[in-house]
Amino acid sequence: MQKYIDSHSHLFINQSFDDLFADANKIGVIGCSLNSVSESDWATVIDIANKNKNISAGLGIHPFVVDHVSAGWYKNMDLLLNYNPDLILGEIGLDKTKDNFSTQEKMFIQQLELAVKYNRTINLHCVHAWDVLLQILKKYRNKLPKIVVHSFDGTENVINFDADMYFSYSPNILDSKYKKAIASIPLVPKDKILIESDCADFDIVPNVANAVANARPDITLDDIFNNSKRVFFNG
Ligand SMILES: [Zn+2]
Repeated sequence: MQKYIDSHSHLFINQSFDDLFADANKIGVIGCSLNSVSESDWATVIDIANKNKNISAGLGIHPFVVDHVSAGWYKNMDLLLNYNPDLILGEIGLDKTKDNFSTQEKMFIQQLELAVKYNRTINLHCVHAWDVLLQILKKYRNKLPKIVVHSFDGTENVINFDADMYFSYSPNILDSKYKKAIASIPLVPKDKILIESDCADFDIVPNVANAVANARPDITLDDIFNNSKRVFFNG
C-alpha cells in the first residue's frame, strides 16, 4: 500500500485523535505532524506523540489566539521544548486577515527565537504577511531551523528565499480557484514538496498527494513521503 505522511494536522474537537489516526493508517497515512493552536493543546499533543513514534507534535500559539495566553506561556514553552527533544514549533506565524498584528509579530518572534535556540523545525502559518515575515526571517539567516510553509499559497519569492524551507500543499489545490498555489507546484524544488490535510480529515491526504504528483512528472508519491519523513522523523 502507498504510504503518506500528513505534514499539517490538528486535534479534532470531540473526537479521539488516536481513533482518527488508527483509521488513517488503514488508508496508508502512517505519519503526521500534529500542531497545537493554543496552550491548552500542548499536554494533549505531547501525550499523543509520546505514545506513537509516527506522530510529530508541535507546540505553538497560533496567530488567531495571541490575545489568549497565560502569563507564563513563554517560560512553559521553553521548559517543554528543553525537556522534549522531539517537539517542534507549530503552529506559529502571521496572518494579516486577523486583528492584533503587532501582538502576532511580537509573539511570532519569541517563538521563532525558541526554535532557533533548540534548532527545532517550524510548522509555519502565513496569510498575506510574507513581506513582514521574510524581513523577520532575514534577521536570523544562517541560524534558521527547517521551516515547513503550511498550506503554501504559491508566493514566488518565498520559493527562492535562502533557507531550508519546505512547501506543504493543502486540499486548497483541489479547488481550481487557488490558481497561484496550483501554479507554484512545478516551481518548487522536488526535495522540498510536502502535502497535508490541514485538519484531521486524513482521507483527503492521498487526493492531495496525487494532485501534486500529477503536476510533477519528475516526482513520485514515494518522493513526497520521503521528503516528509526527512523533515519530521529524521528519516
Ligand atoms: Zn493549522
